[in-house]
Amino acid sequence: MMQQVEIDDRLYRNVLGSFATGVTVITTEVDKVVHGMTANAFMSVSLKPKLVAISIGENARMLHHIKDSKQFAINILSANQQNKSKQFAGQLKSESEVTFTYFKGLPILDDSLAVIACDLHSEYVVGDHTIFIGHVTGVKLEQNDPLLFSQGKYRELKELEESESPT
Ligand code: FAD
Repeated sequence: MMQQVEIDDRLYRNVLGSFATGVTVITTEVDKVVHGMTANAFMSVSLKPKLVAISIGENARMLHHIKDSKQFAINILSANQQNKSKQFAGQLKSESEVTFTYFKGLPILDDSLAVIACDLHSEYVVGDHTIFIGHVTGVKLEQNDPLLFSQGKYRELKELEESESPT
C-alpha cells in the first residue's frame, strides 16, 4: 500500500521548480487546425529505438489533440522565443498570429533551436498527467542558445568560468 506523506504543496512546487529545464512548445494538427502548448516536462527515453516522452496535464486541450492526431512535434525554444512560450501557455493578454512551417508532415515553429517530430508510440495515464511516448521520425537543429526555465522565471544560458583544477 502507498504510504501517505504530508508535504506542503507550495514547498513541493518550489522544489520541483528548482530543477532547471529548457522550454518546448508541443505542436500538432487536427482536421487542418494547428494547436500548440508550452511544456517543459520532456525527456529523452531511448536511443535504439529513438523514443522521447512528454507529460500533459489532464485539463490541457493538447491531451485530446495528440490522441486525435497520433503525432506531435516538440519545438525546443531558442532564447529569443520567450513570447512564444508565454503565448502557448495562455499567458499573453494579446496574442499574435503565429506562422507555422511544416516538417515531416507536422506544423512547427521555424525559429526554434531544435525540432523533434514524432509518431505516437504509446501513452500512460499517471496520476493527473498522461505521459506520451513519441517515436522519433525526424529531427532538425539550428545554431542558437536555448531558452531556460527555473524557479518560475525564464533564464538564459551563461557559461561558468572553468575552475582551476585542484592541486
Ligand atoms: P490552449 O489553452 O488551447 O492553448 C494554449 C495557448 O496557446 C492559448 O493561449 C492559445 O491561444 C495558444 N495557441 C494554441 N494554438 C495556437 C495557434 N495555432 N496559434 C496561435 N496561438 C495558439 N502543462 C503540461 O501539461 N505539461 C507541461 O510539461 C507543461 N510545462 C509548462 C512549462 C512552462 C514554462 C509553462 C509556462 C507552462 C507549462 N505547462 C505545462 C502549462 C501549459 O502550457 C498551459 O496549461 C496551457 O495553457 C495548456 O494548454 P492547452 O492545451 O489547454 O491549450
